[in-house]
Amino acid sequence: MKNISILGATGSIGRNTLDLIQRERDKLKVVGLTGANNIRLLAESAIKFNADIVATSNDNKFHDLKEMLSGHQVEVCAGINGVLEVASRQVDWVMSSIVGSAGLLPGLKALEAGANLALANKESMVAAGPIMKRAAEAQGVKLIPVDSEHSAISQVIRGEERDSLSKIIITASGGAFRNLTISELIDVTPEQASKHPNWNMGQRITIDSASLFNKALEVIEAKEFFGLKASEIEVLIHPQSLVHAIACFCDGGMKAHIGPSDMRHAIAYALYEEKRFNLPLEEVDLSKVGTLDFEKPDLLKYPALKLGFDVLEQGGLAGAAFNAAKEEALDNFLDHKLSFLGMADVVRATMDELSSKNQLSSEVELEAVIDIDRQARLIAKIFVDKF
Ligand code: NAD
Ligand code: MG
Repeated sequence: MKNISILGATGSIGRNTLDLIQRERDKLKVVGLTGANNIRLLAESAIKFNADIVATSNDNKFHDLKEMLSGHQVEVCAGINGVLEVASRQVDWVMSSIVGSAGLLPGLKALEAGANLALANKESMVAAGPIMKRAAEAQGVKLIPVDSEHSAISQVIRGEERDSLSKIIITASGGAFRNLTISELIDVTPEQASKHPNWNMGQRITIDSASLFNKALEVIEAKEFFGLKASEIEVLIHPQSLVHAIACFCDGGMKAHIGPSDMRHAIAYALYEEKRFNLPLEEVDLSKVGTLDFEKPDLLKYPALKLGFDVLEQGGLAGAAFNAAKEEALDNFLDHKLSFLGMADVVRATMDELSSKNQLSSEVELEAVIDIDRQARLIAKIFVDKF
């Protein structure tokens, strides 16, 4: 029996993970589940999967969650300490699928407790990749990518020599506004940005897909997972979202990963620790697709992507600052206090401010990451009023 916990079990990735576990209940045992505000779904999942422990990150929801689970043999906890308690339970495999930098400490705790970690929470790799990798190495456990592009990269480079790899191409759908011009982006709303043409995901990553902030995070995530330099990563807009990554080799050969736009493919690959699982997902019918398009992104339209490459080159604490400033800008866009294009302006201004004070070049240690995250949010908040 493989023991499993899911951090962020009520979200899009968490629910897809439970959907896979449901198919193999005789081999997979759910130990811990966490969520935030959707405690009804959290309680239902805890009962359905017979979990040992659940936590809501929202302290105010503790009593209601406890009430919903009364009469069931499940430990209930709340707050960040409750989430960390779940993460520290000894299991074989943990899905890290909390959204945002809130996923960093729980994911790290799971690694320190000796679990193989499937990482959907790209923010923790962007902010603290070296810390995550050191923790995995110290415990001798696996850190497995779940992001579809990174799962695809690990599938196409498998069995290849690192020296023979010349470049990785990561694709981007272009998100909700891929057919709009820059001037048409001036007035777009969070509601419009929340409609992804190809993927069904949480709201924050969906908006980040429209601005390409998501791709910027993924470029940094690719550096951390696969040790790539900026010059070894290219992003291409691929509206069909069927080719997720392409590895280019020194002999001119290329290997592309084609898969359905369904996260269960990448989650299953991580769940079975990079072995194939027989999933009843619809096969991509290339004869129906007909054409696969690729084009270079317009960096004027997608300034976030250029920022992502700059952060990758900068290294140090730049990833943590970038992610925090982006989260603050996104919160303000969601609150209608900042325009869609203003998000990149705020992030760029925040990064410039921190760089000018030479605050980003320190070693990536946990305390420094937490401190720069806090500073970046404060500075970004000030810039929100200026853009
Ligand atoms: P989501 O918004 O659907 O779910 C987020 C989960 O995190 C929920 O369970 C929520 O309760 C929990 N949560 C939110 N705030 C929290 C906090 N402060 N503390 C503790 N828990 C909190 O998000 P999602 O789309 O499932 O994405 C989850 C992660 O996976 C993100 O890092 C995202 O970038 C990444 N990812 C998602 C997809 C996708 O298809 N959805 C694809 C690739 C990567
Ligand atoms: Mg992705």
